[in-house]
Amino acid sequence: MWRETTQHERNRRMFHEEFDGFLPDAVFDFHVHLMNRGVIPGGKTYSCAGHALTHYDMDDLLHDLPAVYPGRHTGAVCFGFPNVRYVHAANNAYVARVCDRERFFPFRLIDPHEPDHAAVRDDIVRNRFSGVKPYPGYARTKDINDVEIHDMLPPWVMEIANDMGLIVMLHIPRKQRLADPLNQRQIVELCTLYPRAKIVLAHVGRAYYLKNVLGNLDRLKTLPNLYYDLAMVSNWEVLEHVFATVPRGRILYGTDTPIALAPGTSVEINDQYTYVTPVPWELSIHDVHHKLVFTSFLYEGLRAIRKAVTRLSLDDRFVRDVFYENAISLLTTAP
Ligand SMILES: [Zn+2]
Repeated sequence: MWRETTQHERNRRMFHEEFDGFLPDAVFDFHVHLMNRGVIPGGKTYSCAGHALTHYDMDDLLHDLPAVYPGRHTGAVCFGFPNVRYVHAANNAYVARVCDRERFFPFRLIDPHEPDHAAVRDDIVRNRFSGVKPYPGYARTKDINDVEIHDMLPPWVMEIANDMGLIVMLHIPRKQRLADPLNQRQIVELCTLYPRAKIVLAHVGRAYYLKNVLGNLDRLKTLPNLYYDLAMVSNWEVLEHVFATVPRGRILYGTDTPIALAPGTSVEINDQYTYVTPVPWELSIHDVHHKLVFTSFLYEGLRAIRKAVTRLSLDDRFVRDVFYENAISLLTTAP
């Protein structure tokens, strides 16, 4: 069992000691990936922090949510797995079909090279997608580290997003991530040129270590249509800086499930970060000598959120907004 949930006794104990008195009665996850069987071609598997998956579908999510957040009302934004080799049309159709748009809201994977722009717009309308999910890999034209935000979100995509008031779940490219000057400039350009689109910086702009976030939200925090999701950010110093800097109504709890359910955490070392996992994974250092008992990335993230909230003496209202209300008002307020 690769999932670290309260189905394990040690996590159940941790939940009651650390999270039960902290979490509000409703938890909304703004960053969940779903994938039905057949999306990965050729009998291959997806490495979920080192654990091979053939699918992670709505049945899995419905099983896992109450095991992660016992006693809570839950909901999520769901989108597919943005891998250029996967069958993304089938993944989009699946997500649209299984999301009820009351508890679960579908976003559409968007490839900037899709040739028929009118068909994309029709698909978004017909399937009532609440947002789009671009990804650096879909740019294809250059080295992944040289991809620009504008390559992921060409004007035709942003015009649809602006017209329809869509949410754009933006995983920013480039090695310097949030600290990259070109990224900074293009985020400002998107928000300013397309004011009816709502841009979410996934993983707080992938700023997983303190030096990457310090000073780099100052230009962005005044943009009224920019939001920040906390998925996979388990560094309390980063979270404390975010909570103290950006408007509280723009912070969205998110996890990156299913990866977040796997055992592991991220650590900061010498102004860099890495993941640490019990099993080999291409993005991690792994515990070769079995020195540690791990819990999930997700629970490590909750610990860090709680620590940052406590250090800043933020109130219950802040916690409820970040875990639920901000998401619901973003998803349900007409553009
Ligand atoms: Zn993700």
